[in-house]
Amino acid sequence: MFDLKLETLRTLALYIHIPFCATKCVYCDFNTYAGIEKLIEPYLKALHTEIQLWGTKLDKPKLSTIFFGGGTPSYLKEDQIAKLIESISQHFQTEDTIEKTLEANPEDICITKLEEYQRSDINRLSIGVQSLDDRLLKLLGRRHDAKSALESINKVINFGFSNISIDLMYGLPNQSLKDWNQTLEIVLSLGLPHLSIYCLGLESGTPMQKSVELGELPKPDPDLAADMYELTTEKLANLNYRHYEISNWAKAGYESRHNINYWENQSFLGLGPGAHSYISGMRFSNIKSPREYILRLKNNNKSISAAKSLKDISQVIDQIENISTTTEILDTLMMGLRLDTGISEKKYFSRFGHSLDEKWHSTITATVTDGLVKWSEDSNKDLHNRSLQLTEKGKILSNEVLARFFAAAEN
Ligand code: SF4
Repeated sequence: MFDLKLETLRTLALYIHIPFCATKCVYCDFNTYAGIEKLIEPYLKALHTEIQLWGTKLDKPKLSTIFFGGGTPSYLKEDQIAKLIESISQHFQTEDTIEKTLEANPEDICITKLEEYQRSDINRLSIGVQSLDDRLLKLLGRRHDAKSALESINKVINFGFSNISIDLMYGLPNQSLKDWNQTLEIVLSLGLPHLSIYCLGLESGTPMQKSVELGELPKPDPDLAADMYELTTEKLANLNYRHYEISNWAKAGYESRHNINYWENQSFLGLGPGAHSYISGMRFSNIKSPREYILRLKNNNKSISAAKSLKDISQVIDQIENISTTTEILDTLMMGLRLDTGISEKKYFSRFGHSLDEKWHSTITATVTDGLVKWSEDSNKDLHNRSLQLTEKGKILSNEVLARFFAAAEN
């Protein structure tokens, strides 16, 4: 049975997975499904049970952030989100002011939903726009076009939401630098406070990957993608966006607190099928099938004691990994280097009991020489206050940097 040895949890970031989408986009390999709407109600019931079980097991811990992701959380009816929020606040300690993000697709956004989100204290909307080029939106299998996406964004702005993020993708088949520039120009004219901008990853088994393999679509060109990234970096810097993570830009104060928690390799709890968690030195994930998840959590929501709750929770847990100190160090480096603040020597030392330089001297020296990482500018003044950061070149070649640390850990 799943055995969780709990330390005192100061605060916890909570992720809630909504595995439903109206249609499946051709590039997407997330654990999400189209055409199973009849499972929504039973799924929500099971999710309420999982919320209750974890709240009981962890003794109603304090939440630092809540993130509804998917899938498409905005595909749910407004009262369904409100009930989930209610259930979370019954079983966890939450404050109105903590960051509560909901991922929304442009086609779902309407005033009724926005009103309910506001009533439920959802204070951050992350909108899946991906492109403002109708030809490319069609190619991606998205349901919206550029005009309706812009209308939805304006609806959210005019309604009064200030903390808005949009997701965009570049490096798409048949996308030129000019196409990307056009999308960026329009997006930047909106003055949004947060942008998540990802390079398309051709995930194995997706219809898009198969089309590329069959030659029906051209293979995305990595050099062109690097040019798009550089263009993005330049344009956003000119507009005073902070490039606070490899794929994320924000105006001051609008950085995603939930995601920073991941990148700092801190604890989080993920609920719903396929959701991942990291608590007390263990990483674990739930079974992926929504049907199976519903089945296993059926009839478990009667009287729940802390002792019984772990037994019931374990029924939906699929994979468990005990994280060794070496893995924890590598994870901390891998994720922390994604942030512009990098890895703080002070925090690293207090977490692991040795300095970065002590453990990684030759790897750091070589990557500094190759212009991939650097010490923060104040490092000459106080060695203990410095941090290790990726350079602009290192951001483009971040996989190479991480591979070097992994190789050093194996030697
Ligand atoms: S809407 Fe998002 S989660 Fe759903 S299929 Fe498309 S990319 Fe995947």
